[in-house]
Amino acid sequence: MSEPGERTAPIVMLDLDAQQRAIGPVMGERIAQVLAHGKFILGPEVQELEEALAQRAGVRHVITCANGTDALQLILMAWGVGPGDAVFVPSFTFTATAEVVALLGATPVFCDVREDTFNLDVESLEREVVKVLEDGRLIPRAVIPVDLFGLPADYGRIQAVADKYRLRVLADAAQSFGADSDGTAVGALAEATATSFFPAKPLGCYGDGGAVFTDDDDLAELLRSIRVHGKGTDKYDTVRLGMNSRLDTLQAAVLLAKLTVFDEEIAGRQEVAARYSDGLEGVSGIATPPRDASAWAQYTLRVTHPSTSRDELGSRLAAAGIPTAVYYPRALHDQPAFSGSDWTAPDAATSTALASTVLSLPMHPYLDAVQSRIVVDAVRLAIAGG
Ligand SMILES: *Cc1c(COP(=O)(O)O)cnc(C)c1O
Repeated sequence: MSEPGERTAPIVMLDLDAQQRAIGPVMGERIAQVLAHGKFILGPEVQELEEALAQRAGVRHVITCANGTDALQLILMAWGVGPGDAVFVPSFTFTATAEVVALLGATPVFCDVREDTFNLDVESLEREVVKVLEDGRLIPRAVIPVDLFGLPADYGRIQAVADKYRLRVLADAAQSFGADSDGTAVGALAEATATSFFPAKPLGCYGDGGAVFTDDDDLAELLRSIRVHGKGTDKYDTVRLGMNSRLDTLQAAVLLAKLTVFDEEIAGRQEVAARYSDGLEGVSGIATPPRDASAWAQYTLRVTHPSTSRDELGSRLAAAGIPTAVYYPRALHDQPAFSGSDWTAPDAATSTALASTVLSLPMHPYLDAVQSRIVVDAVRLAIAGG
């Protein structure tokens, strides 16, 4: 148990100051170089970053872009996804996963997730595909598994369903870059992968950023065109409709500096997660997340207590000085923007239930052993008081 009044730094959800101290002068040097050369759009750091990321993930191509949402959209555009197409998405995810599908005129078909991993339920996926085929109005085109909270989805089983029904697989790895699954890095687990460098993601920049990972040479070439207004060989040659979605050179420089500590940060997150899971093992009224290799974007509990609600646990922790967050308070098929569709997943009961039972604890690589113990003790005390 922690002593009352024990002295420690305040516990925060994300500690960018500690990270800056760990990176040291490299960040300033990287930024100064960009200011000196002045190539703010598609400058040399962008290509350097793309090569570093491709090498890290073990893929042939990385195409950076303006944010993770665009990364998803660019891939769907390159595949020609549009009206009449069904794209299968989990209902328990950030809105961007389904938003890009709808923006392109295609139909997001919501599937349920698993209670234990928070990731796409493969049986639900197959059920929804069969429903779409039986209904006959839409053509099943793609599935977007999400690696929620940093844990890679079950790509082996998802790919088997995708092969059976000829679906393309787009991995939404916005939260999982840095993780791997049985030795294969995130980025190489699906034919195309989208990630985000939003500041709160495991690898975050100082603004917006995103990237696509793929081994497909043709897709890579298309993406490089689409991210610059559908350019051909020349910038003022417009061969298709595209977007303006480039990663700023300054953000690439920030990410190159952050990559110097990224391996240690992922290891640090894993340590924090292990301390939480050890400290909370067997505590009744909460369920801890799987211990499998994850990038640990979040450490998310499920509150299963018969009389203490998720919100009650959150307020007791807040009173004890422990911040928490709810990702996500509403399943997408229950959101006004999507609820008018014919495909609003009446079978996504787990997604609906998770929205009112999940609670994320502070998670960042600089949360030390004392702070982790304070969090664990506070959770144990708060749930026992219910
Ligand atoms: C953050 C996130 C996105 C979008 O990334 P942005 O860079 O914010 O556009 C997409 N999907 C998931 C699951 C995310 O967590």
